[in-house]
Amino acid sequence: MISDSLREVAAALQEASRLLLLAHVSPDGDSLGSLLALRQVLLRSGKQVSVYVPGGVPLRYQFLPGADTVLSKPEQLPDEPATIVVLDCGEWERVGLPADRFAGQPIVNIDHHRTSCGLGQANYIDSEAAATGLLLLRLFSHWEVALDVPVATCLYAAIASDTGFFRYSNMTAEVHLAAATLLTAGADQVQIYENLEKKSFSYLKALALVLERLDAFADGKGAYSYLTLADLDSLGLTNSESEGLVNYPRSVAGIQVAAFLVEMEPEVYKVSLRSRAPLDVSTLAALFGGGGHARAAGCTLHGSIDDCLQQLSEAAVRMG
Ligand code: 5GP
Ligand code: MN
Repeated sequence: MISDSLREVAAALQEASRLLLLAHVSPDGDSLGSLLALRQVLLRSGKQVSVYVPGGVPLRYQFLPGADTVLSKPEQLPDEPATIVVLDCGEWERVGLPADRFAGQPIVNIDHHRTSCGLGQANYIDSEAAATGLLLLRLFSHWEVALDVPVATCLYAAIASDTGFFRYSNMTAEVHLAAATLLTAGADQVQIYENLEKKSFSYLKALALVLERLDAFADGKGAYSYLTLADLDSLGLTNSESEGLVNYPRSVAGIQVAAFLVEMEPEVYKVSLRSRAPLDVSTLAALFGGGGHARAAGCTLHGSIDDCLQQLSEAAVRMG
């Protein structure tokens, strides 16, 4: 069954001849895989397609087909008006470009975050879906696209990223069927796993520090750890390479909430939140202007690490 919103989004994309594809800052495997899969499919139907990722594609995702075509600086953006497609993101604040830059241009939004309300004229939002890549697979199946290896690779990487390689609680039969479809179309699971999971020396040394600092917060309800700018500097790590470190506090037995904080600018921390039912971290993150899903969300906090932890602790305790 195709929903009306999917039909509307499909029509808006089909009508467009020039498109600019955007996702969220601190791009992850789902946003990058989704951007590059949609790029390939739209290019095949003769459209002009640009993809913009602020700061460029992090090293671990550079194996994705088309990653080398991504624009990384605002001054590289094409001047001509285009249909703007925002993937895996439901707020302009997270796109990394001001909304007024695109005033008067059609906007299409495809996303799966619980906190998204649809920022386009055409919106396909399904907060039950495990990944934006899954929503694109539904779109491609509606269009009867013949999946090739590059598209299958991008979508498999997108879905594998957001499901922790098919392990998280967002897993469904539809996701397993999607994985089977993508493997049949030629996605190389071993190569994708190797690329997404390989670690640098700096990352593993950062992990040692993160584990050393691992501690409880929110009256024992949660576990957290963090990295400061000084840590990143001495380890030779960029903040985008700290992705995944939240999984260590998350794995502590008996906790309901896990937090990992990484300092982006002096006294500005990007917070990754994870939870076990019943605590909904998208609600916790929304208290601080962030958002996400029930089991995985994020926000930005200001202050020293102690200030940030105190804000988080108080809010998590209040949530009951
Ligand atoms: P992560 O902790 O892996 O960066 O993010 C977990 C989930 O929350 C992802 O789906 C991500 O898109 C979302 N998320 C992270 N930070 C923010 C934020 O500041 N605002 C919103 N709306 N979502 C976020
Ligand atoms: Mn996603």
